[in-house]
Amino acid sequence: MKSDVEISQESSMEPIVKIADKLGISEDQIEQYGHYKAKVQFDPKTERNDGKLILVTSINPTTAGEGKTTVTIGLGDAFTELHKKIALALREPSLGPVMGMKGGATGGGYAQVVPMDDINLHFTGDFDALTEAHNTLAALIDNHIQHGNQLNIDPRQIVWKRVLDVNDRELRQVVVGLGGRTSGVPRQDGFDITVASELMAILCLATDLTDLKKRIGQMLIGYTYDRQPVLVSDLHVQGALTLLLKDAIKPNLVQTIEHTPAFIHGGPFANIAHGCNSILATQAALHFGDYTITEAGFGSDLGGEKFMDIVAPKLKKSPDCVVVVATVRALKLNGGADKNNLNTEDLNALETGIVNLKRHVENMQQYGKPVVVAINKFVSDSDAEINFLKDYVHNELGVKGAVINSWAEGGKGAVDLAKEVIAACDQPATFKPLYSSDNSLLEKINAIVTKVYGGTNVELSNKAKNALKRIEKMGYGHLPVCMAKTQYSLTDNAKQLGAPTNFTIHVSDLQLKLGAGFIVALTGKILTMPGLPSHPAALDMDIDENGRITGLF
Ligand code: ADP
Ligand code: MG
Repeated sequence: MKSDVEISQESSMEPIVKIADKLGISEDQIEQYGHYKAKVQFDPKTERNDGKLILVTSINPTTAGEGKTTVTIGLGDAFTELHKKIALALREPSLGPVMGMKGGATGGGYAQVVPMDDINLHFTGDFDALTEAHNTLAALIDNHIQHGNQLNIDPRQIVWKRVLDVNDRELRQVVVGLGGRTSGVPRQDGFDITVASELMAILCLATDLTDLKKRIGQMLIGYTYDRQPVLVSDLHVQGALTLLLKDAIKPNLVQTIEHTPAFIHGGPFANIAHGCNSILATQAALHFGDYTITEAGFGSDLGGEKFMDIVAPKLKKSPDCVVVVATVRALKLNGGADKNNLNTEDLNALETGIVNLKRHVENMQQYGKPVVVAINKFVSDSDAEINFLKDYVHNELGVKGAVINSWAEGGKGAVDLAKEVIAACDQPATFKPLYSSDNSLLEKINAIVTKVYGGTNVELSNKAKNALKRIEKMGYGHLPVCMAKTQYSLTDNAKQLGAPTNFTIHVSDLQLKLGAGFIVALTGKILTMPGLPSHPAALDMDIDENGRITGLF
């Protein structure tokens, strides 16, 4: 089998104008970035919102991922095979995991978006613009303090860190402003990864430039010496930051190997942020296509829950069908199999680990919409394992499901799944939110922990208790909660696999994200700046004298 980058390089792309035309997008509605990428001008006020929305999420993954992006793309190509007007809405890859653990995040095998190297490496510059805008604000805050600090900002209470789209653990905690009177005011600071920036969340939740600017103005940057909140609007720089994002806010259009249109825009991680592509990209897909397929990061406990509770209310639309991706490999891992042994048949581990799939299917079912299971087939899966999984889905869970083999076969490998999904989209169903904005913050966290994670208790650290009091006193208790939690477990401990019960979730801190409009609850040992593994993907990458790239998976 060829590598992803080889398959991508051999594919013949259509000019992006032609892809846009498939969706009825005219040439003057796009800004081309070369021949195969474009930004789309789209006025959401004219939005047509009767298209069907399909959300792809998964079980708890292995470190390699369970193939949500691959399934999303393959499924999209199957809709194309079935002559449906389809548009995908996906996240942009972050360079951190590309160079670190996962390699490219543009699908795999014959289910890829292209040009995969461009999309993985800077793409149309959105993340670079976000990084610059974020750090410009950091510089403006310190500059304000340097020049007299009229706002009385307490340098020890600045909550606006700096960001970089690199997994760099060395920068988690730093001291800035060293070097004397002319080099700033020394203070403790730190770096997050760009995808954890509140600006990324805002880019993905904003409905237009005006909304973007309003949200940026509302961002909390810290507190004064007398503990009053300081917002970006107090510094009067929301205009400058918004103009740095004037192009980044426009959704990007590319294509799959089989020429299905794909909007790729925004990319918060689902473990430390809300995990879904931009609302504008999803709206554009819904507007121009009859069917939209979008991916929420990691499992139903993270991106799935956040799509339902944070994104759907802002999108004013909930999914018509949820696809839960399952693999034999990850279920075996959840059943106690050794992570280096997932290619060997192990029906016992599969049978033990399958409770994880049950939990994720039930998690999504409680929102009231039909759930379809996508069994993402790997060549190492045995027939006995696949049959066991199929049986379990049909007979034990009583939901529709199909094997998807798009990694090897492209769209053709997903036609059975596509038919199930199309049928599910036509079922009448009512959306049932998990909580209401009237619930207190603690009630919301409790609802997520007990109804989605399957836990029993929430324990707040003293820091989190104080933050909770402060946030409620400031009048922001009505906001939704964005949980920051490990993706590997339903608990806050990455090592507890399967479907644990009787556990406590430990909240270490609550962070007020006023521009995004949610409260982040940090659980367990989750970090907002990842590190690189012992063998980073970067070690195997190269480019030759002709610009030919290898090792990008
Ligand atoms: P996710 O979106 O869930 O993180 P991806 O779709 O990015 O997962 O897939 C993770 C990795 O697994 C990618 O390198 C992809 O090429 C590979 N992959 C996905 N599905 C398959 C499959 N059926 N067979 C082999 N490799 C696969
Ligand atoms: Mg993915």
